[in-house]
Parts: sequence; structure tokens; C-alpha cells
Amino acid sequence: MVMTGASGVGKGTLREKWLRDQNVFYSMSWTTRAARSGERPGLDYHFVTDEQFESHAQSGGFLEHAQFADNRYGTPRGPIEEALARGQDVILEIEVLGAMQVATQTDEAILVFIMPPSLDELRRRLEGRATETPEQIEKRLARAREEILEAHRFRYVVVNDDLERAVDDLLAIQRAERLKAERLNEAALQTIVGE
Ligand code: 5GP
Repeated sequence: MVMTGASGVGKGTLREKWLRDQNVFYSMSWTTRAARSGERPGLDYHFVTDEQFESHAQSGGFLEHAQFADNRYGTPRGPIEEALARGQDVILEIEVLGAMQVATQTDEAILVFIMPPSLDELRRRLEGRATETPEQIEKRLARAREEILEAHRFRYVVVNDDLERAVDDLLAIQRAERLKAERLNEAALQTIVGE
């Protein structure tokens, strides 16, 4: 499942609440951004230099990668392939261009756009978390506007106005996707009819 949407919309908070007690693999991204205070290397992000990022990109090590507000971000391919092979659902939390790259590579990805109640509210959230300078906030809001205008391309939209309800919506999407008839394979059907 790919969760996308503007910076500051609450993807991280939703993910933390949603993942509690679930056997789901969260894909930790690589970034060239400097760690913010309180961020844990190896848990929140794998923090790397431009050179390390570029060399991983050149060797095909990313499922997707994108530039966002002066920094690069990418989803490493290896850990996702291993988690899928173990039968785990995988969650990516990435910006919109990266989400679109994932969609072009696989039909299996469930793309969910997390929508803020409004751009004004998004501004309040970004200003409230105080992790960016005013100039960086303006850049992120300009990008958010572009991202919101692309929301119709995604399979689902969850409005993050009320956290509990938004988490509930994500769980409902996950359940509905697991119930899809197309996920049944021949072997499962044979077992049901007893052959
Ligand atoms: P931040 O600097 O606030 O941690 O992240 C900036 C934006 O990059 C957010 O929208 C975040 O979801 C997105 N992002 C984080 N990791 C990745 C990734 O691996 N790939 C892409 N395309 N975007 C990412």
C-alpha cells in the first residue's frame, strides 16, 4: 500500500497509529536530508550523502526515487522484495511523484492519497510542527497545492481531518483489498471445493 499526500498532512502519524499490532512492513526510505532533532537514523530514515544516494540509484537499488524541496528521497527495493516474499503487506509513505512511479511498475500497489482538510489547515500544521524555516514551509505548501491537484489519479482518498476516522478508513481499505476476489488463486479454490 502506498500512502501519499502533502508534507505535513499527517502521513507519519496515521502510519504509526495504523501499524500498531499489525504484521505489516514499513518501508524505511533513504534521504539526503539532514536528520531533524529527534529523528532516529535507521528507524525514521536511512540518512545518506548525495554520493551514496546517487550510487544506489545508478545500480537500480530504488523502487522509486524523487527530489523534494532540495533533497532526494528513495524507496530501497531489497527490503520490500524480502517482506513481500515473507507474505507481509508493505507500506510506503512517500510523496506524489514517487507514488506515481510505483504505480507504473506494478498493478499490485494500492495507492491512497491523504488529503488535508484545506491548504490553510496544512499551513497551520506545518507551522505548528516547527521543523522547517518559513521559506521551506512556503516551498512545501506550493508543492502541496500541485500534489492535491493530482489526487484524482489515486485509487483512494482519505481526508485527514479526524485522526481516528482516517485510521479507520485506512483499515477499511486494507480489509476491502484483502477481500478482493481476484486475489484468490486456483489452488485456494480447489481446496474449497475439496479437489
Ligand atoms: P520530510 O522531509 O518531511 O521527511 O519528507 C518530505 C516528503 O518526502 C514527504 O512528503 C515524505 O512523505 C516524502 N518521502 C519520504 N520518503 C520518500 C521516498 O522514499 N520516496 C519519495 N518519493 N518520497 C518520500
